[in-house]
Amino acid sequence: MGILSDLGIVEVKAGNTVLSGYGTTIFEVMSRLAGEHGAINLGQGFPEGLEPPALIAAAHRALDGMGQQYPSMMGTPGLRRAVADHDRRFYGIELDPDREIMVTSGGTEALADCLFGLIEPGDEVVMIEPLYDSYLPIVRRAGGVPRRVRLEPPEWHLPKAGLEAAFNERTKLLILNNPMNPTGKVFNRDELSLIASLLARYDACCVCDEVYEHLIYDGLAHLPLMTLPGMRERCLRIGSAGKTFSLTGWKVGYVSACPELLQPVAKAHQYITFTTPPNLQQAVAEGLASGDDYYRSLAGGLGRRRDLLASGLAEIGFKVLPCHGSYFLITDFSAFARPGEDDAAFCRRITVEAGVAAVPVSAFYPEGDVTGFVRFCFAKKDEAIAGALDRLAGYFRS
Ligand code: PMP
Ligand code: GLN
Repeated sequence: MGILSDLGIVEVKAGNTVLSGYGTTIFEVMSRLAGEHGAINLGQGFPEGLEPPALIAAAHRALDGMGQQYPSMMGTPGLRRAVADHDRRFYGIELDPDREIMVTSGGTEALADCLFGLIEPGDEVVMIEPLYDSYLPIVRRAGGVPRRVRLEPPEWHLPKAGLEAAFNERTKLLILNNPMNPTGKVFNRDELSLIASLLARYDACCVCDEVYEHLIYDGLAHLPLMTLPGMRERCLRIGSAGKTFSLTGWKVGYVSACPELLQPVAKAHQYITFTTPPNLQQAVAEGLASGDDYYRSLAGGLGRRRDLLASGLAEIGFKVLPCHGSYFLITDFSAFARPGEDDAAFCRRITVEAGVAAVPVSAFYPEGDVTGFVRFCFAKKDEAIAGALDRLAGYFRS
């Protein structure tokens, strides 16, 4: 109570010192603000209008047709087989569904399982900024020592010397998000080869957050680090049905790795969620076996929405950065910034005054010092994108 609570700061004596140092996640904060102000929500990354009806029907059927009790902690055999088939079909990766695949409650849980399962206190973890929001708190909570490498806008090139300098004999893991949130960057073969050579040189492993594996545009193909020479035994590959099937609320994810890496990760999973709803696993298994048309039209439809939002924002006066993957466009809003206004203040202003929510990119930098960019999510209905562009155009014209 008192001045701290007046400022919205809560002193939590019972809380763990690492986690209680973090505020509420920016995605929740912006979605709440959007809701309070009736804003069109281009902030939090969730899709609208893309949910496949066949998967929802499959989940209904499975709810009636299969048991309601705990499935195996590693996931239903059907979903594990489907992940193995998917990875062979798209990437030529051969996985043993009984020993090398584990189903999780979303990519977020898979990430936490990997980090809690693999990090010993004092192990160093190389992380590439901008960072997805759960990485740093979990690495720190697990006792890891973060070694951060920064990508700079607008090209987000991977700095070779900076990356090399982040590795040493204490390096245990690298976390690689490819395609990358929030930048929309897709790492190319040269960059992945550099990463692979450093992992091999320092005997380190990689947590490959590939939840956006099918959201990739401009004719590019997703290249899992796991497929590079020597990387099969060093990579843990994370996927998410939330992203691949536009069903983020289902929270179904999967992680695949050689048994030596997956076993310790399963030790974390068994004490965190243990398992995931069986009917959703069954439906996702059916989804993964969808024909090529499904995957093509997912990327095609999102690429079209990206172009719609990018050209509209550019017309209004935002500088739109290139994006080749994920749900997100990053824009430089300097044409509209008030003196001293940072990205968080700008996002709040356009949510409240223009009725369009976005996410400040500074939320992806632990120091919060990159303040000239905001992120818009384009995985929305055409009407929402058009409505948001109208509102922004009207607001900045007046
Ligand atoms: N990694 C990244 C980079 C993400 O953007 C997200 C959020 N959507 C996740 C992991 C978490 O995925 P899920 O919703 O399956 O937990
Ligand atoms: N990954 C999503 C984003 O970047 C949000 C996920 C979440 O809200 N936890 O917007």
